[in-house]
Amino acid sequence: MEKRPFLTKEQVKEISETYPTPFHIYNEKGIRETIKALKEAFSWNKGFKEYFAVKATPNPYLMEILREYDCGFDCSSYAELMLSEALGLKGHDIMFSSNNTPAKDYAYANKLGAIINLDDITHIDFLEETIGKIPETISCRFNPGGLFKISTDIMDNPGDAKYGMTPEQIEEAFMILKEKGAKNFGIHAFLASNTVTNEYYPTLAKVLFEEALRLAKKCDVHIKFINLSGGIGIPYRPDQEPNDIKVIGEGVRKVYEEVLVPAGMGDVEIYTELGRFMLGPHGALVTTAIHEKNTYKNYIGVDACAVDLMRPAMYGAYHHISVLGKEKEVATRTYDVTGSLCENNDKFAIDRQLPEIEMGDFLYIHDTGAHGYAMGYNYNGKLKSAELLLQEDGSVKLIRRAEKPKDYFATFDESPYYEKLVRTGRMEEMK
Ligand SMILES: *Cc1c(COP(=O)(O)O)cnc(C)c1O
Repeated sequence: MEKRPFLTKEQVKEISETYPTPFHIYNEKGIRETIKALKEAFSWNKGFKEYFAVKATPNPYLMEILREYDCGFDCSSYAELMLSEALGLKGHDIMFSSNNTPAKDYAYANKLGAIINLDDITHIDFLEETIGKIPETISCRFNPGGLFKISTDIMDNPGDAKYGMTPEQIEEAFMILKEKGAKNFGIHAFLASNTVTNEYYPTLAKVLFEEALRLAKKCDVHIKFINLSGGIGIPYRPDQEPNDIKVIGEGVRKVYEEVLVPAGMGDVEIYTELGRFMLGPHGALVTTAIHEKNTYKNYIGVDACAVDLMRPAMYGAYHHISVLGKEKEVATRTYDVTGSLCENNDKFAIDRQLPEIEMGDFLYIHDTGAHGYAMGYNYNGKLKSAELLLQEDGSVKLIRRAEKPKDYFATFDESPYYEKLVRTGRMEEMK
């Protein structure tokens, strides 16, 4: 599918006069369309709920948009729980899906009344010791082991993943939890990431529904919900076909009617914890070409770097790039597009065919709306970019300012070095 920016060069030129590049920008219209389509696709299930995976894009302004559609939030840490609390969420609007969980995180999740999803059987005792009880509604994360395949394609390797409980463990966990007073059970699994196939959710659903059936019988417990978690991907590459959420929803419905309904389990609620699918395509990193270098290869240096978007450096991930204003031009050049870190993997693209780039051109890096800004860090003393929202009426709102030196030095604020930078005025200099 052709990859089209949701902004024109003229728009970016105007925006950059107020908010200099680099910045991440999100498209409100697209976000609303995706959440509506997801809810529609699963409207056959009465209790359906999307718990947006906060880690993908932890920005309260964007989370607020999802709240309008009654989304809950899937949190995995103390600070993510804080974000949810700041947005006024409590109780079963929060799913706490964590692993290797610190006690203080469990205590806080419990205080908010979140649904707790246990990653391991040993966490039953750990949780009980921490909060003094076992909640009535509780969930366990399942890991069937082995390879996860769709027909003959290997999608991922759950047997090699640190998450979840084996079939024997989840059975034992349910028995123990029941004895300790749990009444409503949930089952959760995340078996493959960024799947660009309509088959992933239905295949996962079959595994989970059959497991739910087995556990309901064997342990004689009430399965309240099945959480299909994240993993629905997006077409980062132009040659990939996007997932069709309607087809996915129908696929899950079919398995639900085959497996759960005949077993008298037609009241089981379906939950999702999508991150990438919800916001990925609706964000972009906009950056300016500032240097061209020709040595053994041709490099375009831009004003963003891996600090703003780590996926290419970390996973060799592909992010499509459009040179704004040159979308229709023929790609006659081969470039490496680089950031300024002292790390040779700080490249947004390697040997990429692009139109000829001039200094000052805006490069639009696609699909940074999830796991983009959020993964950033401060290596090399680089400061993270701003986040902007392109609102439905075409206006632009700043939803997180760019970092300033004082943010970088914030954890030295009790040191004499910090004092000195304040005294010399250096701290305020860079705005
Ligand atoms: C990361 C994560 C998600 C979201 O994954 P996506 O690939 O963004 O859909 C959902 N649930 C859990 C537990 C996760 O860790």
